[in-house]
Amino acid sequence: MTTQVYNFSAGPAVLPKEVLQQAASEMLDWHGSGMSVMEMSHRGPEFISIYRQAEADLRELLAVPANYKILFMQGGGLGQNAIIPMNLVGCCAQPATIDFVHTGSWSGKSIKEAKRYAHVNVAASSEASGFTGVPPQASWNLSPGAAYLHICTNETIDGVEYNFVPEIDPKVPIVADMSSHILSRRIDVSKYGVIFAGAQKNIGPAGLTLVIVRDDLLEDALPICPSAFNFKTVAEHESMFNTPPTYAIYIAGLVFAHLKRLGGVAAMEKINIEKARLLYAALDADDFYQNRVSHEFRSRMNVPFYLRDESLNEKFLAGAKARGLLQLKGHKSVGGMRASIYNAMPLEGVQALVDYLNEFAGR
Ligand code: PMP
Repeated sequence: MTTQVYNFSAGPAVLPKEVLQQAASEMLDWHGSGMSVMEMSHRGPEFISIYRQAEADLRELLAVPANYKILFMQGGGLGQNAIIPMNLVGCCAQPATIDFVHTGSWSGKSIKEAKRYAHVNVAASSEASGFTGVPPQASWNLSPGAAYLHICTNETIDGVEYNFVPEIDPKVPIVADMSSHILSRRIDVSKYGVIFAGAQKNIGPAGLTLVIVRDDLLEDALPICPSAFNFKTVAEHESMFNTPPTYAIYIAGLVFAHLKRLGGVAAMEKINIEKARLLYAALDADDFYQNRVSHEFRSRMNVPFYLRDESLNEKFLAGAKARGLLQLKGHKSVGGMRASIYNAMPLEGVQALVDYLNEFAGR
């Protein structure tokens, strides 16, 4: 018997136990094929069926419209910071302009990378206030004729989550980095041109990157864009222009099927609201702990917090570990603590953390 632990890692992160159990039971022999999924040709009927089911289930979960392709790629979120400009800026006279809203570490990295391919306009930034929210849309200084607008809808390190979809010129596509909250809440895919997400938080193992892209945006790649990262090429080959991360796609598919059994994204959203409410209430109970994000933009997935007396940090982490509450240390760039409470974190895990927060604070 394994000890019960709750894993609050920001990613790679906790996966549903049922999914891991199913993967374990199918590890050596997938559905009587005599093969592990890892050993299958990506072009064989067994893997093609796994891939198609995963694609169809994700399409259903997110209600992805028919005029969008779902791509299973590699290279992670940071890879997309280069892959997306290379695929989208060919639409415009060079150098094209990309608009960004800077709301934290991850949009900051996207800005830095995009400068290699285009002129970058930071339309708004919350840096001066310590990345504690999303600047109001009325203050954004968008460029006419921008190739696209890039936003990070959930900043994993800063714990800032959009609570609105920007309303901009419909001719300018919105590109959204949803790495750390995809599938945690309902979204209207049709409001976006491209959605991307590394899998290792709410989807499955590292090594897989999901891209959802509107069909009309498949035509604008720069000639230098590598074929294996060209959205049109990848789409035309059903994500098999080159060998895809087959095992990661298989696990992602098990996660999608699991989410469907639980009632889909709407059901997850309901539980996620409750989990976040519980945790923030414990952090706000007095000033022993502190979360600095303005309430309306507090992330439901990633909850950074500080102890008022930071000399207690090591003691806090050791006590948490002794209770099976793992990986609560904050990102090295901001310090403090961070609890990531993705879909696969059960309510009981959040309750166990809340009990410990109260006990440690001497409440
Ligand atoms: N964007 C966001 C919002 C992230 O949280 C991360 C990873 N933590 C990345 C991008 C980078 O992803 P990767 O490490 O897969 O390149």
